[in-house]
Amino acid sequence: MDSTPPTALPEAEGATPAMAQWFAAKGAHPDALVFFRMGDFFELFFADAVTAAEVLGLAVSHRGEHRGQPVPMAGVPVHAMEAYLARLIRRGFRVAVCEQMETPEQAKARRAPAVRREVVRVVTPATVTEEALLEGSRPSWLLAVVPEGPRGGDERVGAAWLDVSTGHVCTESLPAAELGALLARLEPAEVVAPEAIAAGDALTPLGGLVREAAVPRDGARLAAEAWGVAGLEAFGAFTEGEAAALAMALDYVRATGGGTLPRLAPPEPRGGEGTLRMDAATRRSLEILRAERGGKDCLLGAVDRTLTAAGGRELAARLAAPLSDAAPVLARHDAVAFLLAADAVRGGLREALRGAPDMARALGRLSVERFFPRDLAALRDGLARAEAMRAAIGDAAGVPPVPPLVRAAAAALVPEGSPRAELARALAAELPARIEEGGVVGPGYDGELDALRRLRDDARGAILALQMDLAQAWGVASLKIRHHQQLGFLAEVPSAAGEALLRQKPAPGPMAPIHRQSMASAHRFTCGALSDLDRKLSQAREEATRREAVVVRHLRKLCLEAAPGIAAAARAAAALDVHAAAAELASGGGWCRPEMTERADFCVTQGRHPVVEAALRRNRGPAFVPNDADLSAGRRLCLLTGPNMAGKSTYLRQNALMVVLAQAGLFVPAEAARMGLVDRLFSRVGTADDIAGGRSTFMVEMSETAAVLNQAGPRSFVVLDEVGRGTATWDGLAIAWAVLEALHDRLRCRTLFATHFHELTALAGKLPELAPASMRVREHRGQVVFQHLVGPGAAARSWGLHVARLAGVPREVVGRAEAVLASLEERARGLDPLAGELPLFGAAGGRAAEGPQPAVEPDPLRDALAAIDPDALTPRGALEALYRLKSHMT
Ligand code: ADP
Ligand code: MG
Repeated sequence: MDSTPPTALPEAEGATPAMAQWFAAKGAHPDALVFFRMGDFFELFFADAVTAAEVLGLAVSHRGEHRGQPVPMAGVPVHAMEAYLARLIRRGFRVAVCEQMETPEQAKARRAPAVRREVVRVVTPATVTEEALLEGSRPSWLLAVVPEGPRGGDERVGAAWLDVSTGHVCTESLPAAELGALLARLEPAEVVAPEAIAAGDALTPLGGLVREAAVPRDGARLAAEAWGVAGLEAFGAFTEGEAAALAMALDYVRATGGGTLPRLAPPEPRGGEGTLRMDAATRRSLEILRAERGGKDCLLGAVDRTLTAAGGRELAARLAAPLSDAAPVLARHDAVAFLLAADAVRGGLREALRGAPDMARALGRLSVERFFPRDLAALRDGLARAEAMRAAIGDAAGVPPVPPLVRAAAAALVPEGSPRAELARALAAELPARIEEGGVVGPGYDGELDALRRLRDDARGAILALQMDLAQAWGVASLKIRHHQQLGFLAEVPSAAGEALLRQKPAPGPMAPIHRQSMASAHRFTCGALSDLDRKLSQAREEATRREAVVVRHLRKLCLEAAPGIAAAARAAAALDVHAAAAELASGGGWCRPEMTERADFCVTQGRHPVVEAALRRNRGPAFVPNDADLSAGRRLCLLTGPNMAGKSTYLRQNALMVVLAQAGLFVPAEAARMGLVDRLFSRVGTADDIAGGRSTFMVEMSETAAVLNQAGPRSFVVLDEVGRGTATWDGLAIAWAVLEALHDRLRCRTLFATHFHELTALAGKLPELAPASMRVREHRGQVVFQHLVGPGAAARSWGLHVARLAGVPREVVGRAEAVLASLEERARGLDPLAGELPLFGAAGGRAAEGPQPAVEPDPLRDALAAIDPDALTPRGALEALYRLKSHMT
C-alpha cells in the first residue's frame, strides 16, 4: 500500500487548543503519521487515524468535532508504542512523535489552555535505534547521494552512508553509473538525495525509501563541525561531493532526531576502494546475502557460523564487499588459519562470544538518550565477554604465532577507561525493563540513593505499623491499608465496621478516622497520621527516583566518554567472531585456504557449491559431486555444454562464489584452490533460464551483457549462463558467439560460459584459450542420470536426442528426429557461417574494434549520391543527376 499518508488536511481554523497543536505538528510533517501524546496514549487523528487503524488493526473512534464533523481518532498505548512503530516502519511509513513537554499541573500553573506538545522525533526506517525496530544481523544504512559533476568524462556522484544504530560512517565518490551497484551492495534502509538524483533511474525502484533533500552548501565545514574537528582532512581525503553527502545525511539524522545527533565514529572515506566490484545483476544471480525468488537459501545463510548479531553484520558486510587487494585478504586468511589450528583459542573465543550482547547498538541507544537499563547491562556484560576473549587469545602459547589481525583485535578488546567495573558495581542484579520503573542502580553504589531508599522503606514499614495501630484503635481487626492511584494510602474496612465508625463521634487526634469513600462492601478512611506518612513516602520515593536518574546519567556519561574505545572493542569482537566462525566452518573438513597468486590464475580442485550442497544434505538428497575448475593462462575461457538439469548453472556459480568467499577473507569449499585476485566479478543468467524465472526481458539480458563487455578487464572474472537464450535461435547463437569472441580476444578475462548452443564448440579450434567442457550424462536402467560431473570436451552434438531416447520417447520419433537433424546439419554446412571467419561478428560489441572491419560491398548508387552537392546544382543539373541516380537502379 502507499505509505505516504494523505496530505489533504482539514482546515485548522476553529480547532480546540490541543487540536491546534496537532495541526501544527501535521503541517510541519505532512508526509508522516503524527503520534500525538495524550496521557497514556498516542492518538492519531483524521486520515492518519484511518490509515493507522487499517495497518495496525486498531478501532477508529471519534473525539469531539471539528467544523461540525466528528474527528476520527485511533490510539496506541504509550507502553506498547514500539511494537506499533515497528509495524509501521516496516511498511515504509514515517511517524512524527509529538510528545507532551510538561505535566498538566505545569500547564495549569502557567494558565495555558493545553499542555505544551512538540514533535521530538520523526521515526524513519534508517534513523531508528530501538532493538524492536532493527534487524539484528543487518546494518541499517542511511545513504545520501549528491551530484558531483563530471570528472575524466564520467558523471560522478558523492555518497555517504551511515548506520545510526552503530555509529559507522563511510563515504565514496563514484561514477553515477555505479550507483546501482552501490545500492545493491548496501541495501540501504533509506536514501536521501536531491530531486535530480531521487527521480533518476537508479533510485526510482526504491520508491518510498527515498527522501528528497537539498544539498547543503559548505558541506565540508558542516561535517567537520559535527565531528568537532577543524577540517575533515583530519579523517582523510574527501571529495566535495562526499563532504556534501555527509552533511546532507547528518542534516537528515538531525532533523528526524529532534535536532540532536547520535554518536558517530569518524567517517571513513573511500568506502568502496579496494573492494571487489559487483553490480546489482551479479549480486542477484549469485544470491550472496539473500535468495532470489523461488530459493530459500543464500551464501550468507550457508556459511554463517557467527555467534553474535554484530558478527553476523560483519560477515554480511564482508560478503557484500569482498576485498580486491592482496595484503588485507591474506591477513584475514592468516587469522582464519590461526584460529583453525589453535583449537583452544577458537573454543575460548566462541565460548565468550556465545550470547554476548550487541554493544555497538546499545552504545547507539545510549548516545541518543533513548536507552533502557538492559543497554547499560549490555555494555557491562559485553565488555566482560571482550575481556574473556582477550584472555583466550592471551593464553595462546606462541605456536602457531598469533597473526597481526588477531593480535590487533585482542588489543582493542579491552578499551582504555573501560566502564565495565563501574557498571558492574552500580547496576542492580535484577534490572527493570524501563528506567522510569526504578531499581536500575543496586544498593551500595551511591550513598545518597541508599539513604533516600532507606527513608522510603522506613515509611513503608511505618505504614505497616500504623495498620496494626489503627486496627486496634478503631477496633477493626480486618483493617487493611491499601494504596490507590488517585487517593494515595487509605485504610479499608468492611461495610458493617465502616458504618459503626461513621456513627461514632471520634475524639480529634492523628488517629481519628476521616471518611473518604463508601463502596458496596467496604468503606475507606484516612487519618492525620496516615496522610502524613503518605506524604513522606511519596516524597522519599520521588527523591529516590530523582537521585537514581542522576546516577544513571552519570553512568551514561561514563559510557559515552569511553565510547570510541567501546565501539572499537565491539568491532574487534565482531571481527574475531567472523574469523572464528570461518575457522569453525573449515574445522568440519572440506574447506581450504585459497592460495592467492599474482597471476590471473583460477584453479580449483574438487570445489563445491556451499548452498546447493547444504540443500541436498538437508533434503537427504544425493551427495554433492565436487568438480575441478582450471582457467589458468592458455585456458582462460571455459565453454560448458550439457543438457538441462545437468549442473551447469551450479558449477558456474560455485566458482564465482569461490572468488567472493576467498576475497571476503574466508576459506573456500574445495580441496585446494589457487587464484589471482579479481577486480570485478560478473555473473549473468540468460533470460530463459529457469533461475531467472522470466523476471527479466531480453532487453535486460542484453543491457546486462553490454555492461560486462564494457567493463570487464584482464583481472575480471565473468560467469555467463545461457546468454543469448532470450531470443530466436540464430540471433541468440550469433550474440553468444560474438560475446565469446570479445571475451576471448579483447577483454581477456577469466570466463565460465555455459550454453545450450553446442554449435559454439566449433569455436574451440579458433580461439586458442577456449577450453570446452561438458556435463557428463549417462544411462542407468533406462533412466537419464545426470552425474553432475564436469569433463573435458564438448557435449555430444546430439545429446538432446540421446536424452530423448533415454527418457523413452518412441523409437520411431527419435529415428525421425535423427533424420531431420541430419538434414538440418547438411543445410547448415551449405551456409557454413560458423566454419569461416564470421566477418559479421568480427567487431561486435567492441568500443575500440580491433581486427578487420566487415568488408563493404561497392555501392555505385550510394557513391553517386554522395558525389552530389545540392547547393551547387542548377535546376537542370538536378534533373540530370536524378536521371543518373535512376540509371544505377537497373
Ligand atoms: P543446469 O544449469 O545444467 O540446468 P543446474 O545447475 O540448475 O543445471 O542443476 C540442476 C540441479 O542438479 C540442481 O538443483 C542440483 O539439485 C543438482 N546438482 C547440480 N550440480 C550438482 C552437483 N555437483 N552435485 C549434485 N547435485 C547437483
Ligand atoms: Mg542452468
